[in-house]
Amino acid sequence: MLKNDQLDSWDRENFFHPSTHLAQHARGESPSRVIKTASGVYIEDRDGNKMLDAFAGLYCVNVGYGRTEIADAIAAQASELAYYHSYVGHGTEASITLSKMILDRAPANMSKVYFGLGGSDANETNVKLVWYYNNILGRPEKKKIISRWRGYHGSGLVTGSLTGLELFHKKFDLPLDNILHTEAPYYYRRANLDQTEEQFVAHCVAALEEMIDREGADTIAAFIGEPVLGTGGIVPPPAGYWAAIQAVLKKHDILLIADEVVTGFGRLGSMFGSDHYGLEADIITIAKGLTSAYAPLSGSIISDKVWKVLEQGTDENGPIGHGWTYSAHPIGAAAGVANLKLIDSLNLIENASSVGGYFRSALADALQDHPNVGEVRGEGMLAAVEFVRDKDSRTFFDAADKIGPQISAKLLEQDSVIARAMPQGDILGFAPPFCLSREEADTVVAATQRAVTAVL
Ligand code: PLP
Repeated sequence: MLKNDQLDSWDRENFFHPSTHLAQHARGESPSRVIKTASGVYIEDRDGNKMLDAFAGLYCVNVGYGRTEIADAIAAQASELAYYHSYVGHGTEASITLSKMILDRAPANMSKVYFGLGGSDANETNVKLVWYYNNILGRPEKKKIISRWRGYHGSGLVTGSLTGLELFHKKFDLPLDNILHTEAPYYYRRANLDQTEEQFVAHCVAALEEMIDREGADTIAAFIGEPVLGTGGIVPPPAGYWAAIQAVLKKHDILLIADEVVTGFGRLGSMFGSDHYGLEADIITIAKGLTSAYAPLSGSIISDKVWKVLEQGTDENGPIGHGWTYSAHPIGAAAGVANLKLIDSLNLIENASSVGGYFRSALADALQDHPNVGEVRGEGMLAAVEFVRDKDSRTFFDAADKIGPQISAKLLEQDSVIARAMPQGDILGFAPPFCLSREEADTVVAATQRAVTAVL
């Protein structure tokens, strides 16, 4: 086994970490964190320090760590057939079974699943398919995609452009042309103090309609949104938002892509966020919870309406010119099958709903009277605490105050609990594994209260 200092220096010398302050890490100003093992909701580092992971990795280890059922399925698949491609009609029992299991759980208008590796490439696929769709329908001008400020859809060229967070654009020359951003349904931060939720929804709808009028509906192909804004702050939409937005999209023949990378497979306490909010999407993006991150796998679930046009396109133009080497990778597919079976057999979505509800109300009871806690919110097994400088006037902290990062660091230091300082604003995010118990929820709440009191 490598000594700690050897591992530290190799890490700093060789490893380009994503979403990391590169210079600080290389200089040794931020810790080198080596995680060694994990079980249930706990992860453990190389020195045996145990931490309660109240963010399930990057909101992805939904069934919890150390599930031997999934590990065994992966090992069996790797021994029997580690790889074969899925081009020109090839498949494996795992990939075919998984597509059937996904469709059995998806909204009724869905027809097929295209498999990728992660949420970013799945959204990349979606944009290509939407463009192809409009070309086949003879509408080559209908190509723009509308996303929302504070949406997160990945960090590739198109997907980083769809993402509505400045950090992901800055110095990368993004967003690309043809990607537009409209108002985020973020009532607490974006509404005026005297605006009701209903008025704020009307404002979001008016902003979208104004954008469509300005650009021309015949130039706009699709609207993409997460049922609940995730990385942009864990923000459930105000009541009525999705119904009103969908009505506008339908009126202008604009496709809806529901990005369910976080919300798919139970995070909101329903199988899909689309079920939860009554969305009738044309394409649904899935990733994270599909395998609970035991292996990389994503998917684009395609509606019957879009599928028919894709079929027509191949009759007219030959095979679809879109494929990844690792599409429907057998090991990812085997992990997905075992993961979805486990979610069913352990009733984990029910747990996400009931323990999630318990957790969110305990968090609100513990924190909402604190003078710097503006809002405690969430849905299912997703929660966030938003901090403000002044509650009555809703005056926010400056990003430079780094309140979120300070509180998450304190939480880890004092009580070995992991919550995520969301990338913008002063928001602490929670997305525990669905198997969280009420006692573990109590631990997280008490630790958060101590960390908030220590910093504010
Ligand atoms: N879409 C959403 C809603 C996400 O939250 C994420 C990642 O957090 C992505 C897409 C990108 O997924 P990935 O990081 O697997 O590329």
